[in-house]
Amino acid sequence: MKIRILGAHGIDSRDTKFPSILIDDNMALDAGSLASGLSLREQRKVRAVLLSHSHLDHIQGIGALAMHFFTIGSTLEVYGIKDTINALSKHVFNKLIQPDFTQMPSPRRPAIRLHMLEVYKHQVVEDYGILAVPTFHSIPSVGYEVTAGNGKSLFYSGDTGPGLSNCWQYVDPDLIIIDCAGPNTYTPHAPGLGHLTPQLLEKEFMEFLDVKGYLPPIILVHMNPLGDDAVKIAEEISELSADLNTSIQLGYEGMEFYL
Ligand SMILES: [Zn+2]
Ligand SMILES: [Zn+2]
Repeated sequence: MKIRILGAHGIDSRDTKFPSILIDDNMALDAGSLASGLSLREQRKVRAVLLSHSHLDHIQGIGALAMHFFTIGSTLEVYGIKDTINALSKHVFNKLIQPDFTQMPSPRRPAIRLHMLEVYKHQVVEDYGILAVPTFHSIPSVGYEVTAGNGKSLFYSGDTGPGLSNCWQYVDPDLIIIDCAGPNTYTPHAPGLGHLTPQLLEKEFMEFLDVKGYLPPIILVHMNPLGDDAVKIAEEISELSADLNTSIQLGYEGMEFYL
């Protein structure tokens, strides 16, 4: 499984992009930078997107790809829980924000086809085994375990605050890609906003170790890229990585690896 981080930050700019992770060039986890992080040719290879929730920083690329796919007569399969899919129908493809690309150019071959996923139900999407697991954000959200044909799997948390111990029993990832929105100075406010910090992550990882008996390599996304905060996150994560004796890396735009 080839994994490419298109966006690893909570603020969008030329150099820092909203969350999106591309798997084997054809399926994405979240779509924050699914358009801006890919060439037009690369965009055409994307067949499916799994959305963690409906916040703009995770769906931004859907609207852009909708116009592209409408123009070339292609279809993008978009998956999410009921709340996410309903939000897209009602608030994006509502003819005010965007044309209804779920019915155009024709209802049988639309540019965007929306699919509702049930949580805790193993399904196959584009040859990958997938499982949506509820997480803890300010609106209904899920993380995804994605398992490739070679048996390797990753868990992507989407946006989440603390409390993942219940999730861990459902997944067996070889890699965790998880929210770390800010440094430890954010810790008092992060749970209320549905995000994590190095301090809060430590507890989640200790619980993972407790439940599973191992800790896989970890990659962080959704970081605040602003000056002091970015420096502090890097320092605090370096300490945490040493304390836990586990590889914890800050994700970055263009980061690529194989699992
Ligand atoms: Zn969010
Ligand atoms: Zn977000």
